[in-house]
Amino acid sequence: MTKAMMDDPRRFREDNPFESMMERFDRAAQLLNLNPDLYAVMRVPNRELKVYIPVRLDSGRLEVFEGYRVQHNFARGPAKGGIRYAPDVTIDEVRALAAWMTWKCAVVNVPFGGAKGGVICDPSQMSQVELERLTRRYAAELIDIIGPEKDVPAPDMNTNEQTMAWIMDTYSMHARHTVNAVVTGKPVELGGSRGRREATGRGLLFVINEAIKRFGLTPSATRVVVQGSGNVGGIGARLLHEAGYKVVAISDVFGGIYNADGIDIPAALEHLRTTRSLQDFPGADSIDNKALLEIECDVLAPCATENQITSKNADHVKCKILAEGANGPTTANADKILHNKGIFVIPDILANAGGVTVSYFEWVQDRMGYFWKEEVVNERLSDVMVASFNDVVKYADAHNVDTRTAAYMLAIDRVAYDTRMRGIYA
Ligand code: NAD
Repeated sequence: MTKAMMDDPRRFREDNPFESMMERFDRAAQLLNLNPDLYAVMRVPNRELKVYIPVRLDSGRLEVFEGYRVQHNFARGPAKGGIRYAPDVTIDEVRALAAWMTWKCAVVNVPFGGAKGGVICDPSQMSQVELERLTRRYAAELIDIIGPEKDVPAPDMNTNEQTMAWIMDTYSMHARHTVNAVVTGKPVELGGSRGRREATGRGLLFVINEAIKRFGLTPSATRVVVQGSGNVGGIGARLLHEAGYKVVAISDVFGGIYNADGIDIPAALEHLRTTRSLQDFPGADSIDNKALLEIECDVLAPCATENQITSKNADHVKCKILAEGANGPTTANADKILHNKGIFVIPDILANAGGVTVSYFEWVQDRMGYFWKEEVVNERLSDVMVASFNDVVKYADAHNVDTRTAAYMLAIDRVAYDTRMRGIYA
């Protein structure tokens, strides 16, 4: 830990995602009796880049945006991780997300390290042209450190296929030839993978399918609450609905809707698309995001953002299974409370790893220039998610730890092994 990190006033706050990540890392490292040299190497990011991005706005005014790229670890392969556009992006958040990518890639055993990027901006207040200028300039600033063999960005909150197409084009302009493997989450027509858009939600469905078996539940008898209705929450809810689950509540940033008998999810998402709001959807009551997390249900799937389940509300959570579609939705302080309540946690670094798994498939397809059918992608995704779920559960049973700790231990063990074999810390 550098002095700057230690001095960061947010470091010791429960809502600091980097702190939440480090608490879990430290606990797992201690239980693994991790070699002190490896511990010293693995607890810090490999590289952090801060860039200032001048953008001419449509009004003619020039604004300088601040952006980051943190590359956490390269021991197992090129770094991999999304890019987030949001007004509240912080370097600590990006650091935490980068580290989570390292552990996530190791949990599902794909040959990547971890990275993450973020730009402090409010995309809801920006035109497409402004977003394109911002993205191209940001990509140009990253050009020396990204690439198919170095670091492969992907979409995250408020970035999408279009953003990835702009980054690919900017990178390719500089390389003087088309390099589609520089990013994943691209449009299928530009070298994206079939099934990537749905991959995180589908991966979430696959691990929930495994988890409910432990409770003797069937999909039709399983009540699910989903927070968030974007790429992960919206698609996850739709796939759960199609698989016969009873989705009783869903929300977006402005609030949610609830019906104890189940919601017609495709209709609710269509209502959201046409009215830009879930409110006034016929056949469901309004509920705020705080109350939504406290609904009695079988599966609670927070799929929106960080710090939703904390020491303040964990005691009010009434689910059997917590399936973390978002990154870091639960703070470290909430872990013990959930554990004492007997809640079975499918931790984020496993539950939402479907996205990076199909990103890996996309990178493989781009590099061989041969593209798979969607059924092939989904079948291979299922194999990875089910095997990884079983690996984590077995590890938890063998070491008598909770599933989150098991996932971290498994991941750290794999990264430590590769680091030691490569002699990186020598
Ligand atoms: P998105 O922008 O598509 O959707 C985010 C959703 O969350 C929206 O419905 C938004 O209204 C809602 N939301 C935002 N802030 C909220 C708040 N404070 N309270 C309640 N709802 C809020 O983003 P996404 O891609 O679905 O990502 C969601 C989470 O999943 C993030 O934590 C992201 O890092 C994680 N994740 C995404 C992927 C992926 O493939 N997209 C993969 C792994 C993890």
